[in-house]
Amino acid sequence: MSAAEYIKNKYGKNPADCTDREVYEALLAMTQELARQKETGQGKKKLYYISAEFLMGKLLSNNLINLGLYRQVKEELAACGKDLSRIEEQEPEPSLGNGGLGRLAACFLDSIATLGLNGDGIGLNYHFGLFRQVFEDHLQKELPNPWMEKVSWLERREVSYPVRFGGLTVHSRMYDVAVTGYENRTNRLHLFDIETVDEGIVKDGISFDKEDIRRNLTLFLYPDDSDENGRLLRIFQQYFMVSSGAQLILDECAARGCTLHDLPDYAVIQINDTHPTMVIPELIRLLTERGIDMDEAIDIVTRTCAYTNHTILAEALETWPMEYLKKVVPQLVPIIEILDDRVRRRYPDPDLAIIDGQDRVHMAHIDIHYGFSVNGVAYLHTEILKNNELHKFYQIYPEKFNNKTNGITFRRWLMHCNPLLADWITSRIGEGWKKDAGELEKLAALTEDESALSQVQDIKHQNKKLLKEYLRRTQGIEIDDHSILDIQIKRLHEYKRQQMNALYVIDKYLEIKGGKKPSRPITILFGAKAAPAYVIAKDIIHLILCLQELVNHDPDVSPWLKVIMVENYNVTLAEKLIPACDISEQISLASKEASGTGNMKFMLNGAVTLGTMDGANVEIAQLVGRDNIYIFGKDSETVIGHYARADYHSRSYYEQNPDIRRAVDFLVGPELMAIGHRENLERLYRELLNKDWFMTLLDYEDYKKTKEQAYRDFEDRQSWMKKMLVNISKAGYFSSDRTIEEYNRDIWKLS
Ligand SMILES: *Cc1c(COP(=O)(O)O)cnc(C)c1O
Repeated sequence: MSAAEYIKNKYGKNPADCTDREVYEALLAMTQELARQKETGQGKKKLYYISAEFLMGKLLSNNLINLGLYRQVKEELAACGKDLSRIEEQEPEPSLGNGGLGRLAACFLDSIATLGLNGDGIGLNYHFGLFRQVFEDHLQKELPNPWMEKVSWLERREVSYPVRFGGLTVHSRMYDVAVTGYENRTNRLHLFDIETVDEGIVKDGISFDKEDIRRNLTLFLYPDDSDENGRLLRIFQQYFMVSSGAQLILDECAARGCTLHDLPDYAVIQINDTHPTMVIPELIRLLTERGIDMDEAIDIVTRTCAYTNHTILAEALETWPMEYLKKVVPQLVPIIEILDDRVRRRYPDPDLAIIDGQDRVHMAHIDIHYGFSVNGVAYLHTEILKNNELHKFYQIYPEKFNNKTNGITFRRWLMHCNPLLADWITSRIGEGWKKDAGELEKLAALTEDESALSQVQDIKHQNKKLLKEYLRRTQGIEIDDHSILDIQIKRLHEYKRQQMNALYVIDKYLEIKGGKKPSRPITILFGAKAAPAYVIAKDIIHLILCLQELVNHDPDVSPWLKVIMVENYNVTLAEKLIPACDISEQISLASKEASGTGNMKFMLNGAVTLGTMDGANVEIAQLVGRDNIYIFGKDSETVIGHYARADYHSRSYYEQNPDIRRAVDFLVGPELMAIGHRENLERLYRELLNKDWFMTLLDYEDYKKTKEQAYRDFEDRQSWMKKMLVNISKAGYFSSDRTIEEYNRDIWKLS
């Protein structure tokens, strides 16, 4: 049936007479029906990808693409005067994740279904996703971000499990979101919830009673953990997720004929970062409850679970005080003690223990000892895990460690977000790349073809115009589509060094003020949310917003330099920004960004990377060659050396480099003080001078030099277009289809 007929049947009127809302709801229902027809349930062994975050983004277009309906529906609607991209705006974005880690989980589900693998996701049905960011008085303010509507992608299932917290028992309720594969099967994302959650308890931004578990359990993704009740609530959430998930897994396996003794033949559980770690002791608990002895239960679970590490930032490696676990999940405590005891008997080194001297439980240590695989998410990251962060574990379990360089789904990050480029690629090399991303390499043959290069240039400009229109309409922001568009969009974190980019803005502002004009106008665009309790990150946002005010209103400078901070950066905005970008800022301190996936999205859409040798940038550089990427800064070994010797002192860079001194002093100078808040700007100034833990000033000089080289090279339009085309042609490696094939080959082994 055509979409137009479906709409007519549903409402008894023509699409032309329907509101956008009505059309959206009809398309949603139609898509769900078609997706359901592609469920197979096929496969003895099944993967469960368990994650606290799934940052899915809007689903309508992606599902239409995967079901092979997108073009047809778009044309049918256009014939009735309806624009599918406007209809898509009816859909609220489900922001059930913070950033890269959650977006990765969403890309993985897409690829798992696309490759026809039997694998579902397990997570939580947060009523409010990551907060909605608004700017007020040059400061970030957080508002609740509701996304559930009467008609939505969630399907309520007749599946419910008891989950016991000390004295309190709650009953989970499962909701499913269909995960369509590109011209392949449909899998499911299971999101657990409880029915007593009360959105009415949220007051004053995003605060609420953290002790009322029945009402707050699944209210928020990552509730503020700056106090004890917030931290306890995170444990409540984690256990709720894994206990519901573990019960589901055992039920499903039993239904497929599993005796529990042979669980590893029926299930493999990929633990995405440490948040779902309690699934290990919980499964052991459930198996022993069902009559399996402890030794065997531990062995079974160890052969079923695999762990993905996402970070080496010490503060992100979760540890929970035993006292908290005793309060929330007393039934797991004896099991965790047994697991710790077994480790201690075999390995006397206290660094390998699960429970440390302060009675804190190291979640990653549970995963490493009691899982069969430990993977990092980019080559460099895995090497650092093996050689530094987790070296002692690597020595005892070398066979467990493996690398799986992250990837992104090209359905969303090219076909959907950049149809102009996707269609152009198809017109040049055929459709094959959509299923085998490696075929993008064929584009390399076009780098000497002038008509191809000018078409690529034209598409980039078209995308800038589309972005300009979108930002004007949705954010009241004006951009110059003839300027260089230099973009840094990602979570705000000191290690990602948005502050370094901001210092450059100051430096450039002062240069232009002094009469040194660039050869072409430059737009430096930021998008980032800061964690609500992360003070310095919020100060950095404040600085950028003050710079936006200062620079864009200065008539001497604004024709040449514009600073833009978009509000509420999320997947939807990323999809608009990335296709229009010229320069992709990937400037984390080397060794700190595990992989990055934003870097891959930009490359695929023909942006050239300006970055450090960090995360997957290393692999990007290797693939495209040094002529097609701008690399700067100290490498990871040097940085790790500075930390080991504690010999980095930002003040000496400040004292020796006049550009740095001038830019840093500007933070507390009269121009910014007239716009912003003394407290925020002075705190940031002191941070940079006295601490600068992520070594901004160490790399500043090289950053500036390299960035200006990129701006100069941009003027040679022909050679820049070649760089773009080389980047696109080499991006195939970063398809999440490749990543998932490797997970399956090395870890999951699904047939
Ligand atoms: C891809 C993506 C990220 C991850 O970006 P990085 O640059 O790799 O940190 C974060 N947020 C959103 C909305 C994304 O789409």
